[in-house]
Amino acid sequence: MIKTVRTVDELRKIVRGWRAEGLSMGLVPTMGALHAGHMALAARSLETTDRTIATLFVNPKQFGEGEDLESYPRDEQTDSDKLGQAGVHLLFAPDVDQMYPANFSTGVSVGGLGDVLEGTYRPGFFDGVATVVSKLLNQAGADRAFFGEKDYQQLQVITRMARDLNIPTVIEGVATIREEDGLALSSRNVYLSAEERRAAPVLYQTLMQVASRVKAGDDIIELENWGREQVLAVGFSSVDYLSVHDAETLEAFGERSRPGRVLVAAKLGRARLIDNVPV
Ligand code: AMP
Repeated sequence: MIKTVRTVDELRKIVRGWRAEGLSMGLVPTMGALHAGHMALAARSLETTDRTIATLFVNPKQFGEGEDLESYPRDEQTDSDKLGQAGVHLLFAPDVDQMYPANFSTGVSVGGLGDVLEGTYRPGFFDGVATVVSKLLNQAGADRAFFGEKDYQQLQVITRMARDLNIPTVIEGVATIREEDGLALSSRNVYLSAEERRAAPVLYQTLMQVASRVKAGDDIIELENWGREQVLAVGFSSVDYLSVHDAETLEAFGERSRPGRVLVAAKLGRARLIDNVPV
């Protein structure tokens, strides 16, 4: 059984002990409902550091009005069993009061990078993410922290935030884990009906085709439009964005010599799915 702590004091005490022994540490922040994507982050941490701390916190600050904070899947027992079996050393599962005590009044906001794409459709989302992740990084003081490329913009926002605020933890991205048919694993895939689940892989297939046609030199605007049509044609109800961007700044993709990224967010039934691939 994995050791679980719920307060920052307990977390810091354990971390101090490990530091005194000269051990390196990795941090894996999650909101729980763990799947093979989360476990890939844990595996990478276990491979590259001596002690791995997973965190489980459904962060209210990153849910907007009308989003699924209340219904977000929660199953701490199953999550803690999975982490224990994988060999993760510690679970930090604070409650909301521990993370946001009365009169909590500080926020972290990453301008520019956090305002586009997801930022447009989920106002305040990246402020919530940047605030909670900066807290977790400060609380744990780990050497490395692991985040999925699945949430590509989030990874860029966190990397920039850690650099801007001189947080010494190295931020490492981990490649997206997918189902056999290409659908990116997500805690929110449970919202899909059987029929929607059959349509869902078209998202990834479309991204892959767009990426390869960008490389071949096709017109970007036409490709983006074509991509949106593909996704709508299989039953997605709307496409918030499907567009090609500079992989680092997330500005519109201009110079084809620089690394690019195709990113999508689209609604399928109750679920809003996001995904991305490199160009
Ligand atoms: P979440 O619990 O959804 O906030 O995700 C916690 C971490 O797991 C984030 O860094 C995500 O990017 C990462 N993650 C989620 N899904 C996947 C996936 N399919 N492959 C790799 N990492 C993932």
